[in-house]
Amino acid sequence: MTVAGTGDDPGRRQLGGARVLLALAISVVVAVVALTTYEVWRQRQAVLHGAQRSLLSLSRALADHTGRAFASVGLIVDATVAAMSGPGGVAARASPALDEHLRERIIGTPYLFGLVVANARGEVVGSARTIPPDRRSIHERESFTFHRDTPGSELVIGGPSTSKIDGRTLIPVTRRLTRPDGSFDGVVLAAVDPAYFESEFASVVPTEGGAFAMFRTDATLLARHPAAPGEVGRVFARLPIFAAGAPPRGLSRGPSPIDGHPRLIGYSQVDGYPLLVNVSLDEVQLLAEWRENAIRLTLAAAIAVVVVVVVTTVLLGEIRRDEAISRALAISERRLSLAQFALDHAADMVLWVDRDARVFYANAAACERLCGAGHSLLGMRLDGFDLTFSPEHWPESLRRFDAGESLRFETEYRTMGGEIFPAEVSARLMEADGECYICGFVRDISARRFSEAALAEKTARLEASNAELEQFAYVASHDLREPLRMVSGFVSMLAKRYGEQLGPEGREFIAFAQDGAVRMDRLILDLLEYSRVGRIDRPLVPVALGHAVEVAMRGLAVAVRDAGAEVAIAPDLPVVLANEEELGRLMLNLIGNALKYRHPERAARVEIAAESRGDEVLVSVGDNGIGIAPQYFDRIFRIFQRLHSRERYDGTGIGLAICKKIVERHGGRIWVESVEDQGSRFFFTLRKG
Ligand code: ADP
Repeated sequence: MTVAGTGDDPGRRQLGGARVLLALAISVVVAVVALTTYEVWRQRQAVLHGAQRSLLSLSRALADHTGRAFASVGLIVDATVAAMSGPGGVAARASPALDEHLRERIIGTPYLFGLVVANARGEVVGSARTIPPDRRSIHERESFTFHRDTPGSELVIGGPSTSKIDGRTLIPVTRRLTRPDGSFDGVVLAAVDPAYFESEFASVVPTEGGAFAMFRTDATLLARHPAAPGEVGRVFARLPIFAAGAPPRGLSRGPSPIDGHPRLIGYSQVDGYPLLVNVSLDEVQLLAEWRENAIRLTLAAAIAVVVVVVVTTVLLGEIRRDEAISRALAISERRLSLAQFALDHAADMVLWVDRDARVFYANAAACERLCGAGHSLLGMRLDGFDLTFSPEHWPESLRRFDAGESLRFETEYRTMGGEIFPAEVSARLMEADGECYICGFVRDISARRFSEAALAEKTARLEASNAELEQFAYVASHDLREPLRMVSGFVSMLAKRYGEQLGPEGREFIAFAQDGAVRMDRLILDLLEYSRVGRIDRPLVPVALGHAVEVAMRGLAVAVRDAGAEVAIAPDLPVVLANEEELGRLMLNLIGNALKYRHPERAARVEIAAESRGDEVLVSVGDNGIGIAPQYFDRIFRIFQRLHSRERYDGTGIGLAICKKIVERHGGRIWVESVEDQGSRFFFTLRKG
């Protein structure tokens, strides 16, 4: 069988589409995020690298400029030292004209605002600037004491100090004056103006977050822009640019020790001088534009991601909806093909008719059975093949269909070939799209009718034969008693008259014959009883079970006494539908057996009880006797079936067969439950009275 919708599942196709879309969306989002991150990072690197390059070249340019300035300062100092040297030393050259001479020397050097010559005592003997008499000594200045105490002719750049004349900060550049005998003769001091560099370099340093600083290579700050009052003269030995092994020029990053801002630094040592110039940029300000750009870019990327997510979610929703619809469609297609398959292969005929009783669908079975080849049922009215259909009754049937009833009836159908057969119809109305259709399931019941008829005939024959048999058994057993009585009577007479002459053996034979006659009589009586059960069809009437038990107990009074048995009869035994006499016989047999098959080692105890089970009563007769092995539970209800020898337990093997016949004639069942050596319980059911 092929069922549509199992092979090419549109639901699965949709699922694949959803997966591809999801993968695509995730890829786009990942790509956007990655590209944006990369671009932001790239821009930042570009800004930083650009800034670093310019800082480095700027620091070089400023270092060169500084170097040139200090070189010319060095030349002036050297020339002054040369002028002060010679016989007599400083003392010989100190004259009022010296001041003028010195003044002329510093003309054209804006970075110098003073040139001083001091003798070996530190007294200023010449100065390019006018110095009040009380301040004309530099003997306590470090730049003086250094040269006084340290022989050597090299140019020394001192730490920043304050001018005695006007309080300005100056960078002293000094050289020792040495007499021909090598003794200390004084100092030439050029006052370099750091403010010159500060204002000069400020014009080339970027205005936004840019800074410039000039250090001595021992990390003493000489000048800075923007101005850092109080910081000039401080030693910043911790800065990485002064770390041991740091290259003479390069780049550095880190927080500024002055304002704490993270800075990007380019530095260069001044060739030939123990000076270092650095130019730095505030990173926060440098990256401000980049940051704005990055925010814009991130925002654009976020918007793109949101758009992708929203579009994907909407599309996924659509796909999922389509998927659900496709799945539902596939399921209904599958159901449809299952239903079609069932209809095509059903053994019963299925017909759909409209409200005019005209066929608009007939399944394969209906076409085959009713039309045969070359005919069609479609459009035909029901009376075309339903022999009992009458158009007058159709409205009534429709009314019942409309009321939701389903109709079941038997009718006769005629095939197109003229064959008539009995049919069982079950029909019901279905409403769809505002229209009403009636579906009929039609079963050809010819075979059933045939077997019903055959069964009825067989039953009738069986009943007749049963009745005949029972009649025979009754008559036979009844008529057999007469000759048996004769045999028994004559044997008794033989014993009475000739008993003495026969001797002991003859008397024993006669006793056997008498015993046999008695047993045969009992057998015949029991058989008679058996055949009598149900022979006359007496109606069942309500009978009190308690009464039947009482009657049976009266008949068994002697046996109860002999057995010393205790019989427990449940109170309130119910009323049952029965034939009183047969019920009495049933109880007598069961209670009699309970007494007869008692256990030799314990006093017999019999229990009679009943309980209600729906519209039936379940009666039980239990004992504590010898019990029955399970394999005999069925056998004991068959006629002449005994489990013991006559010597042990007397009997004919008919008692339980009679019980079964009585119970079954009453429409009930009888069975036994037992445990060997412990006792048995016989159960039977009767209808409630
Ligand atoms: P009978 O008693 O005449 O032999 P039944 O038809 O009454 O015949 O019983 C058939 C067999 O079932 C008995 O031979 C006996 O072995 C067994 N039987 C019947 N009732 C009991 C009982 N209450 N306890 C044990 N065995 C029983």
